[in-house]
Amino acid sequence: MSAREHNDESSKRRVAYVYSPEYIETCDTLSKVPNRASMVHSLIEAYGLLPHMSVVKPQVATMEEMAMFHTDSYLEHLHKISQDGDNDDPQSVDYGLGYDCPVVEGIFDYAAAVGGATLTAAACLLDQKCEVAINWAGGWHHAKKDEASGFCYVNDAVLGILKLREKHERVLYVDVDLHHGDGVEEAFSFTSKVMTVSLHKFSPGFFPGTGDVCDTGLGKGRWYAVNIPLEDGIQDDRYFQVFTSVMQEVRSQFNPEAVLMQLGADTMAGDPMCSFNMTPVGVAKCLLHVLQWQLPTLLLGGGGYNLANTARCWTFLTATVLGKTLSSEIPDHEFFTEYGPDYSLEISPSCRPDRNDSKHLERVISTVKGIKDVCVYWRLQVRLCVGVERKQVCACLCGREPSLTYGPFVSAWLFQCVVSCVCSCRCVPLRWMKV
Ligand SMILES: [Zn+2]
Repeated sequence: MSAREHNDESSKRRVAYVYSPEYIETCDTLSKVPNRASMVHSLIEAYGLLPHMSVVKPQVATMEEMAMFHTDSYLEHLHKISQDGDNDDPQSVDYGLGYDCPVVEGIFDYAAAVGGATLTAAACLLDQKCEVAINWAGGWHHAKKDEASGFCYVNDAVLGILKLREKHERVLYVDVDLHHGDGVEEAFSFTSKVMTVSLHKFSPGFFPGTGDVCDTGLGKGRWYAVNIPLEDGIQDDRYFQVFTSVMQEVRSQFNPEAVLMQLGADTMAGDPMCSFNMTPVGVAKCLLHVLQWQLPTLLLGGGGYNLANTARCWTFLTATVLGKTLSSEIPDHEFFTEYGPDYSLEISPSCRPDRNDSKHLERVISTVKGIKDVCVYWRLQVRLCVGVERKQVCACLCGREPSLTYGPFVSAWLFQCVVSCVCSCRCVPLRWMKV
């Protein structure tokens, strides 16, 4: 397994790796992924990768720093219940705490540690101490400003992006976790300064249920959210093909100054989510595609519920960033026995079928590529049509049944309303006819 291909720039890349024993110990307490932080770090260390990076001790986020995104009332509540691990506070339901996000003693300290670590990584990039900064214990993309969600108590990805925005005009968020990066998309849905791109499983009943291709952002942020819904069973080659097609378009349209990438490993073959069928090699190719832009890049973890496979994946990605080739044999270390029966770094795809229909994937890609063109066409039409009554022929880019609506277009603002037309899925008008 070689991470060296297409990676000539890697030798020049300075990499910061956020780590302290206390930080890892705190992250190990997360009940959904117990000891995962230790397993990931130990494998990276066992492969001898630490001397090739600058190891940076993470700060703990202050209340004020977390309040850059989260509401005071949410943070105060989290702080209150964290002191004795009270899982029965009646108010907790309002803040999404309970079932998916259980309350345990010290949960506030965990949130502050994760948030602080991603802020530390972002600060290393802003101070130009590195070109790539890594926090594998971060990437909790579901948390909302006033709500915990999907194992996420603090949205460190949002905090990291806000930090990068202190010096960078346009920040790109790329999310390759199995789940839609809904918390990050929602946080920036109204701005054109942060573009969010999420590739994820989109299927009825699958968490969080958002992220259809026609969800493109709101108000000023319209067209600055990109969603790539995928079906079960996708493998490395096809995923990479979709990823590069979309990212080429995203880069040329948005021209980002910095990137934050969430690399959740619940897409791996063998994950209990049992959905995608990826290996670290496929994800590494996607990562290299972004790294070759040579922009300040912050890398975060995320999901990953087969703990050994998650450690394999993020270790391989760390080596990819550093341009190192790793031996297939897992080195002897504290968690060695977790890697049986083969004790190998590779993850083999399972034989489950790929449910992604080629025509569907082509339509998703052409939709994403077409959206901006339609947008330009659309603005032109607004100029031409102001004050003129027209019949609008709507065709949804998401491929649903076209529908008709009428509108006297008196302003660009009204025009925006009309776009969310009768089929109520934010469809986009493709053709116009005079009445
Ligand atoms: Zn996930």
